[in-house]
Amino acid sequence: MELTTDLLTKWMAAFAEKIEANKAYLSDLDTPIGDGDHGNNMARGMAAVEEALANKNPQDLTSALKLIAMSLISKVGGASGPLYGTAFLEMAKLSSSNTDLAALVDAALKGIEKRGGAQPGDKTMVDVWSKAAPALANGELTEELIQEAVNSTKDMQARKGRASYLGERSIGHLDPGSVSSGYLFTSLLEVEG
Ligand code: ADP
Ligand code: MG
Repeated sequence: MELTTDLLTKWMAAFAEKIEANKAYLSDLDTPIGDGDHGNNMARGMAAVEEALANKNPQDLTSALKLIAMSLISKVGGASGPLYGTAFLEMAKLSSSNTDLAALVDAALKGIEKRGGAQPGDKTMVDVWSKAAPALANGELTEELIQEAVNSTKDMQARKGRASYLGERSIGHLDPGSVSSGYLFTSLLEVEG
């Protein structure tokens, strides 16, 4: 499937809505194993994304992806801002030559891995992206697969990010960035159909 500016706009609107609705939950998840700001960070960032898209009304996919990346980098903050920003920046770069959605998401995943240095199993958003990207390429991305990937972070010990400071005490909690990334892919499923 091809990513168009129209599909991207709908995708971001659905994601922004989920983030806003689950803002308190995401920050609650970030409280025992972080600093309790993930929901607020993401809600601030996605509000900025929606505002930028409405005001600048980018006409081509590359400009739209770049605008999203810049809004996230400048407004989310924390560890997750630059990581989500990198994801959309990598999609923007590839989009001038390739607009295949699965290829773009794979480029985003590689960008997140390179920027944050996390691997699958480290209890970060990579645990969701690394399951969703190949599933999307194989036409196997489902709500169930997303939920399984998100839930798999619960029993992991964090090896990257703030949660890693807790060592074994990070076990038993969902990773907030994985939950928000789950919303991103659930939103995609909603607008794709
Ligand atoms: P901060 O940890 O700076 O307060 P947030 O709370 O907004 O930032 O985001 C935390 C989330 O960022 C984590 O739940 C995790 O999914 C993600 N994260 C943190 N460090 C990394 C990393 N090195 N690689 C990938 N994801 C990371
Ligand atoms: Mg935090």
